[in-house]
Amino acid sequence: MTTYILDQKDRPMRDLRISVIDRCNFRCSYCMPAEVFGDDYAFMPEDKLLSFDEIVRLVEIFARFGVEKIRLTGGEPLMRKNLHDLIARIKEVDGITDIALTTNAVFLVRQAANLKASGLDRVNISLDAIEDEVFQRTNGRGIKTKPVLKGIEAARDAGLEIKVNMVVKRGMNESQIVPMARYFKKTGDTLRFIEFMDVGNHNGWNMYEVVSKKEIIELIDAEMPLVPLAPNYFGEVADRFRYSDSNAEIGVISSVTEAFCSSCTRVRLSADGKLFTCLFATHGYDLKEMLSENQSNADITAYLYEIWTGRKDQYSVDRAKYNKKRRDKIEMSYIGG
Ligand code: SAM
Ligand code: SF4
Ligand code: SF4
Repeated sequence: MTTYILDQKDRPMRDLRISVIDRCNFRCSYCMPAEVFGDDYAFMPEDKLLSFDEIVRLVEIFARFGVEKIRLTGGEPLMRKNLHDLIARIKEVDGITDIALTTNAVFLVRQAANLKASGLDRVNISLDAIEDEVFQRTNGRGIKTKPVLKGIEAARDAGLEIKVNMVVKRGMNESQIVPMARYFKKTGDTLRFIEFMDVGNHNGWNMYEVVSKKEIIELIDAEMPLVPLAPNYFGEVADRFRYSDSNAEIGVISSVTEAFCSSCTRVRLSADGKLFTCLFATHGYDLKEMLSENQSNADITAYLYEIWTGRKDQYSVDRAKYNKKRRDKIEMSYIGG
């Protein structure tokens, strides 16, 4: 029997995001700037990562709290060996109805069919520009758009549901908003714009570099008129729009200019097994340690209950207050997006 639990702001725990690795083949400036994540950066050694057995055990415990959706992320999750095996095992867990993956898609060509066959339902593919020159700069590795576009094709051919995500940062890629919209209007894939966020401590965030939802919509609407759409479900993070002359959709995730903390039902697990109740948290709760100490499922369940029922997080609502103070936040590549 499912026991839903509510936090201090009456939000149920519904979605679990699991970072399966902290490494990545990209160096996006807003996430893992190359100057900080260089050749000598100390990533997690393999034995510190949660094993598949540990992940599955935790998913089973979370599912009993009513968690239905799992998102695998990173770092770059496709760099974790045998990810399809993990997906197949999560698919077997009672109560899990939806498995999604967030990826930069470079390794998707090789893996899409296998991932789908293992039970993956959806992929969110990150692509910040359609022009090579801009994209090569944003990913920090000089990678052209072709491998990502091929990855999107492979996902489509495999029958995965696709959304394309573009982080927009002023001075980096706002020139790509309309070209990206044009491109994906033609393919029919849903494109979602993400406001640049102040995650982590290294991306030099400031409010001026945030291109707001309002600006994004105005730019696209001027060339391709948009019609607003109702949310698909409670807690959907993207505001949705359809083009007036087609069924293609766009979405905007306006986590900075229109905070959606009041419906935030997400909980996050880092690759080394720490639990975070907010993307902007400063500390996590060590579940891997509990697993290695052989604590029972009942003990872990009681601990999760205590954590979630005590949760008050609403960083985005209070952003202005926090930005006045120095705060050591967890890196996005560590906690997963
Ligand atoms: N490597 C995979 C990818 O890029 O899709 C998964 C991990 S990545 C951390 C997850 C998502 O977080 C990506 O869509 C990425 O664009 C987004 N992201 C990272 N840093 C961000 C920032 N500072 N502001 C907004 N979104 C960010
Ligand atoms: Fe890697 Fe994704 Fe971060 Fe880019 S956003 S550096 S692809 S983890
Ligand atoms: Fe959820 Fe924290 Fe983001 Fe608010 S700031 S929506 S509580 S993750």
